[in-house]
Amino acid sequence: MATATIKAPAATQPAAPKYPEQVTGMYILARALKNIGIDTMYGLVGIPVTEFAYIAQEQNIRFVGFRHEQQAGMAAATHGFLTKKPGVLLTVSSLGFMNGLTATVNATVNCYPMIQISGSSERAPIDLDQGAYEGLDQLSVAKGLVKAAYRVNRPEDIPLAVARAYRAAVSGRPGGVYLDVTTPCLGAVMNRADAEKLLFTPVDPEPKHIPSPESVDRAVKLLASAKKPVILLGKGAAYAQVDEKIRKLVESTGIPFLQMSMAKGLMPDKHPLSAMSCRSTVMSQADVVMLVGARLNWLLSRGHGKWNPDGRFIQLDIEPEEIDCNRPIAAPVIGDMDSSLSAILSGLESVKLSMDPAWIKALQDETKVKNARFMARMTGNANASPMNHWCALNVIKPILEANPDVILVNEGANTLDDTRDAVDMTLPRHRVDCATWAIMGMGMGSVVGAAVATGKSVVAVEGDSAFGFSGMDFSTVCRFNLPCTVVIFNNGGIYNGVGVNMSGNGDPAPTTLDVNARYDKLGEAFGAKTYYVTTPDELKSALTEAIASKKPALIDVQLAADSGKESGHIGYLNPASLQNVIV
Ligand code: ADP
Ligand code: MG
Repeated sequence: MATATIKAPAATQPAAPKYPEQVTGMYILARALKNIGIDTMYGLVGIPVTEFAYIAQEQNIRFVGFRHEQQAGMAAATHGFLTKKPGVLLTVSSLGFMNGLTATVNATVNCYPMIQISGSSERAPIDLDQGAYEGLDQLSVAKGLVKAAYRVNRPEDIPLAVARAYRAAVSGRPGGVYLDVTTPCLGAVMNRADAEKLLFTPVDPEPKHIPSPESVDRAVKLLASAKKPVILLGKGAAYAQVDEKIRKLVESTGIPFLQMSMAKGLMPDKHPLSAMSCRSTVMSQADVVMLVGARLNWLLSRGHGKWNPDGRFIQLDIEPEEIDCNRPIAAPVIGDMDSSLSAILSGLESVKLSMDPAWIKALQDETKVKNARFMARMTGNANASPMNHWCALNVIKPILEANPDVILVNEGANTLDDTRDAVDMTLPRHRVDCATWAIMGMGMGSVVGAAVATGKSVVAVEGDSAFGFSGMDFSTVCRFNLPCTVVIFNNGGIYNGVGVNMSGNGDPAPTTLDVNARYDKLGEAFGAKTYYVTTPDELKSALTEAIASKKPALIDVQLAADSGKESGHIGYLNPASLQNVIV
């Protein structure tokens, strides 16, 4: 195992302002962030934000430095999802800003609160397109893509700008916010006493939204009238940290539930009221569907396809514009999840439900059959040689289920689909994945963000292609000595490693990567404990040991190149299949 033996010389400190009674914009920015409760920042430094990062660290804001801004941004977004406090990303101007922006936009799509703070060059030469150093009109680029975007030009405006960015990130539907801070503003000097006077703590940054009593009454009556109701929990419900109210809603009504991917564990997946294995039956038969912090988007066939055309929907959401976006919603309840659930729970106390007991019985019977079939598929592959996805998951499933407090990060195609289906979650907010945009390349960022934000152990189950997007930031896991295990399913390709180049010119096919790549060697370069496993027994002992070590570890799982199908479960979205999709 390679570990560095060279000692770094004493760190260069940023130059202190000439006069101790003076402070810079950078200092005010660090103090304003700290004052508002930001204790961690993810990023990658360079001109013009290096000195700022030093000052922030000095102010006891933990600085988690990455190798690529997109990963730092994914970490900030994951931090936001798991803590309900905006994760902060720091980027340099131009390219650094652009690399990070991808993550900020992804956070906006997924409703995760985060703030990207980027240094930007001096305004005048940018506005006249005179070729400024790293010149780019960053605010204009960001504006159309994120929840809110602001530029701060004067040091005295920094505390207000930070408060506005914070409010925009966490209030209403959470999202990604861009804060542009110009180089002159970062470097501007102010009298210390005047600067300190500007700092303030914003009052009620995440205000409650109380739903109207009429909307609650309408929803309660509709739910009470249902013969075959279902509660569909989404990651908005997980985000809201209202776990006890969700449990009460399900258990006091006895209504079966489905959970979206990142809501898994909000209720235990194995709960007797879980209808997770009967998704198609629920979609086609439920007469009333209660969406709780879940959007009726592509992940739910946009409310069409298999859904019962006569089914009626209740939707609890904080965002009024979400309602009716794909299908008429009979009972919208607009409010923050805590307030809406409280109101619904008290409304339910005075009604009698009409749910057909046969509905639960039928779903529970079907669950037994489906689960047995699923387990048979896994155990039927238990001794596959070389291993395939199911064989590997047959080992991973019981280990992760025995460690419910480990956060599972998951991306890939088949690796994502199969792991999501195989691994039952029992605790809320313990699963982080590619989410609404189905993006690849959130892996190492989310691993670091989850570990730093919660202090918990993390296991990432990554497809080999997915890992490639963020692999270099495994070094960040190692530099920060985080209790994270990265498991790579190497089948040598995007989807699989058996693509055929139809030109015959000898180049790899578009989907082909390297089934013989030794990702474990990459882990070795950064001093992690690494494993290369080719059998289920080796995988079992490697994963068990790695989790127990609470240290950075990387497991290269050798799969067969033909394990996995094109586009995993969503091949129907490819253009050649589209004519068969009725949505
Ligand atoms: P999933 O993919 O799990 O279905 P989505 O991200 O599609 O979840 O939907 C989450 C929904 O939750 C969004 O429409 C968002 O507006 C909503 N939401 C987020 N936070 C809250 C909250 N605190 N209270 C109410 N609704 C929320
Ligand atoms: Mg692959």
